[in-house]
Amino acid sequence: MAQVNGVFEDTLQKNVCDSKVLMVGAGGIGCELLKNLVLSGFKDITIIDLDTIDVSNLNRQFLFQKQHVGKSKSACAKEAALRFAPECKIESLHGSIMKDEYNRDWFKQFRIVLNALDNRQARNHVNRMCLAAQVPLVESGTAGYLGQATVIMKNKFECYECNPKPTQKTFPGCTIRNTPSEPIHCIVWAKHLFNQLFGEADPDQDVSPDTEDPEAAAKSDGDNAGAEEEKKPEGEAKKDGNVERKSTRVWAEENDYNTQKIFSKLFCTDIKYLLTMENLWKNRQDRQPPSPLEWDDLPSSPNVTQASNVTLADQKVWSVAECAKVLDEAITTLKEEAKKGFLEWDKDDLPALNFVTACANIRMYIFNIKQKSRFEVKSMAGNIIPAIATTNAVIAGCIVMEALKILSNQMDRCKTVYLRTQPNARGKILVTERLEPPNPKCIVCRDDPEANVKLNMSTFTLKMFEEKILKGALNMVAPDAELAGKGTILISSDPDDRDEQMLSKPLSDFCQDGAMLSCDDFLQNYNLKVFLWHADSLDDGKEFLVAGDKEKLQPKAEEAAKEEEKKDEDDDEICEIEVDATATNGDRKRPHEEENGASSKKPKLDSAAGDEEVQEVSAPPREVTSADLKRKMEEDDGVVCIE
Ligand SMILES: [Zn+2]
Repeated sequence: MAQVNGVFEDTLQKNVCDSKVLMVGAGGIGCELLKNLVLSGFKDITIIDLDTIDVSNLNRQFLFQKQHVGKSKSACAKEAALRFAPECKIESLHGSIMKDEYNRDWFKQFRIVLNALDNRQARNHVNRMCLAAQVPLVESGTAGYLGQATVIMKNKFECYECNPKPTQKTFPGCTIRNTPSEPIHCIVWAKHLFNQLFGEADPDQDVSPDTEDPEAAAKSDGDNAGAEEEKKPEGEAKKDGNVERKSTRVWAEENDYNTQKIFSKLFCTDIKYLLTMENLWKNRQDRQPPSPLEWDDLPSSPNVTQASNVTLADQKVWSVAECAKVLDEAITTLKEEAKKGFLEWDKDDLPALNFVTACANIRMYIFNIKQKSRFEVKSMAGNIIPAIATTNAVIAGCIVMEALKILSNQMDRCKTVYLRTQPNARGKILVTERLEPPNPKCIVCRDDPEANVKLNMSTFTLKMFEEKILKGALNMVAPDAELAGKGTILISSDPDDRDEQMLSKPLSDFCQDGAMLSCDDFLQNYNLKVFLWHADSLDDGKEFLVAGDKEKLQPKAEEAAKEEEKKDEDDDEICEIEVDATATNGDRKRPHEEENGASSKKPKLDSAAGDEEVQEVSAPPREVTSADLKRKMEEDDGVVCIE
């Protein structure tokens, strides 16, 4: 223990003892980290976490016990740590690190910030705050058996946002709404439906047929257009008209959440409508047209054969008739719960899981997709990557080791540490990579940062720009935007200055192709110039592209060619692991970030001379090629998530 004199040299021991540190997150990594900090001799620690303790945390968040369920994580963690380190000064804060009271000056009081977070949004924010306050940040993450810790410092090392994170795996809206071909498409649809009916409805999660599907539209403009419009399903309104679109929820409420009516709309009327979009089904080898289902005539066996001895409810695949019964029960329960407020889909909430399992399975049947058991649906929908106590423990140890280097004024020795599941050529699973200097094109940490955004300026409204670009892609919390040169305020974070009518107008009403907006987030001390570039449409039906470098906005084919080149170069450098985890990972709304998510930056090992040289090919314990590794990983667990 460092508290025993002589373990650390005197200056370091004094620095450890005197430095005030901030720990963000008191969950899986946080519990381990707090224990490590106090046992290493840290005496002045502030802990912040917005969460309360859930019973499912207790298997690894060892500072908490059964009697703490429902209580604040940060307060309980403090209490537990003081029991074995009573001499420490620990302050616990229960709340979000993104609140305005935790501003730049507040961050400046800390010598080091240590992240033990579980989501990208908070990581982005803390990254910006530490850059603004010029405080070193030790960032960390784990996902299953994988983990990493790294150090971020303004003007010295890469920041958390220097490398754009791969966009999270999503499916094109028209696949989900019109032409599902995999079970996961139906599961994602069912989760969207859950949100539409009981949760906070998201316009991007529409579940009705997508009349704008480019595949369907291929031939239907022309004389048929009028007819198409006529046949639009209930709740649908003309896009260009002023008719207020009736939300699925309003529709369901008006019908008192009657299961039979919901069933008939979703699984009969809407499906019949899809069949009228002939281009989706004509001359297609890869898909069959769906079959609408009538409530009075429900199939009594599933479309898969299953062993007769399957007795566990979780493993049995339900027939459509069984699904309908389960659906009715689930709706009865959920509609009552929803009266108290928006529900959030939770795989561990049985009615919510039953709802999704039933709806997804009915849809799978309709689209001739092999049905799935509740157990399978749960793992696909729940995006389950197990949280593993030992991984958290290893990474929490690494965080403290990096913090100690910073406190010894040896920041140059800091590294990124990766914990991997397979040994490298030297038989090690804990490997390091040198820290890179900041990316000169980073849209966050460079001086006077700039971003380029490509979108359709005549359909993208100011409000969409605020939500999807500034808050979404650019991770601002409370953005303001002004048209450079003219001083026109387009978006204001001050509720009193907001003009909702103006916000609903398209960007093209205010500026032209190539326009520059000066955007800022006061709390993050972040100012960004955003250049807008118009495009009628983008590859893959994407709504927008954001890049620091304008060249990155080029068409996908060129980009892909470059990527390919890069890959070839990388291949002999490391054993790269690429597993398409889509099949088992659900819609991966937050891919591999479900718990203490790791950054998905591809591990690239330190090739400089050092204790972890990876170019070396001398007799490893067992020769493994990259191909072997890939295969092995795929066999082992379908949920590996480094890419
Ligand atoms: Zn950066």
